[in-house]
Amino acid sequence: MDKFADKKMASKLELNWEQEVENSLFCWNKPQGINKDEHYICDESLRDGLQDPSVTDPEIGQKLEFIEGLEKIGISRVCLGFPASGEQAYQDTLEMCRFIKREGFKIEPYCAARTLTSDIAPVAQIQDKSGVALGVTTFIGISPIRRVVENWCDYFIMEQSREAVSFALNEGLDVNFVTEDTTRSKPENIKALLESVKELGCKRFTLCDTVGQSALSGVDNIVSFVRNLPGFAKGEVKLEWHGHNDRGYSLTNGMQAWMSGCDGVHGTVLGIGERAGNTAIELLVLNRLLESEFCETSKSLVPFIEKCSSWFSRKIDENYPLLGTTVFTTASGVHASAILKSYERGSNKLADLVYSSVPASEFGLEQNVRINKTSGRSNVQFWMNKNNLHMNEDTSASILLHAKSKRQALEDKDIFDFLARNVNVS
Ligand SMILES: [Zn+2]
Repeated sequence: MDKFADKKMASKLELNWEQEVENSLFCWNKPQGINKDEHYICDESLRDGLQDPSVTDPEIGQKLEFIEGLEKIGISRVCLGFPASGEQAYQDTLEMCRFIKREGFKIEPYCAARTLTSDIAPVAQIQDKSGVALGVTTFIGISPIRRVVENWCDYFIMEQSREAVSFALNEGLDVNFVTEDTTRSKPENIKALLESVKELGCKRFTLCDTVGQSALSGVDNIVSFVRNLPGFAKGEVKLEWHGHNDRGYSLTNGMQAWMSGCDGVHGTVLGIGERAGNTAIELLVLNRLLESEFCETSKSLVPFIEKCSSWFSRKIDENYPLLGTTVFTTASGVHASAILKSYERGSNKLADLVYSSVPASEFGLEQNVRINKTSGRSNVQFWMNKNNLHMNEDTSASILLHAKSKRQALEDKDIFDFLARNVNVS
């Protein structure tokens, strides 16, 4: 008799056995050393995300719930928007700050502003009115193409930046100096500007891959370059990465930025943002968890992002990592057979890992099996078990035959209708 067949026998011995199997899996990845204490995430959904022409600006009540959700999933900093852009943006930002204070959240709020004192002044006002310590990300484009288009010279960029940063520091704001299009800017320009702004007392800087041009080597090169400037080592200043997904690299670039020495990585929920979007924060959270360890908040990630999908009107693709409806579902006969055997051994852990690198159960999800023309009897058996139905071999064979005549996987309703028409089940 198979000693694992009875789920009630989930003894200490079996748990050790499962652990041994998990530990025996080889990993070719280099340890990335990414963890929550050293590597933080900044959410930009309410600023950069809303520049996406296909999303909805959430109502203020939804924004408050959004901030609460970010706090729960371990996001450290949140951009509340661009208060200088209008009265509504100003009032929403003020209300969100008051909410953060009232709830005693740890999340650190900040606002966006161009390198203009007229943009920064409303941020300082909101800090005073709400009593919340606010940050400001003050940004200016520095790449050769922006210089030509805007007709800016080195002197203008330097003076504009210094004036804005001095003003913001004087107002008691946590200043983050953001160089737009950093990844297409010359080293000598980056060096001169960052050193000049740091001299004023600025302690936080963001490197932007504004048009998603960087590949992994580019991220490593630019982060290392800045970290090696005098006074820019880890611990001396905070360095953040802001990436876009035009080449499909945003997530790996964000992970690389952490590995190369950035403290923070920016992103948005579901990667919303103009063009191909930003780095998806839920995937940063997922990979940071996989790099370190799961915690009790892991289970709040999926329900929260599902709410965000509705608040921002961004649909989740069926095969989107972690969140897609079919991500933990297989129709393949071979895969279904392995998952079924794992469950028959009484092991959720094995079922989670045998055909997946992301353990569904850690996120409150489970493996599922569908039946289509690539399926085998295990798929039918799995479906019957799930629906508490008894199956004989003829039933299994006839459902499979039915599935093989269809071009898409069977829905539950299809199978029940088929059984009602053709087969006796109990
Ligand atoms: Zn951006």
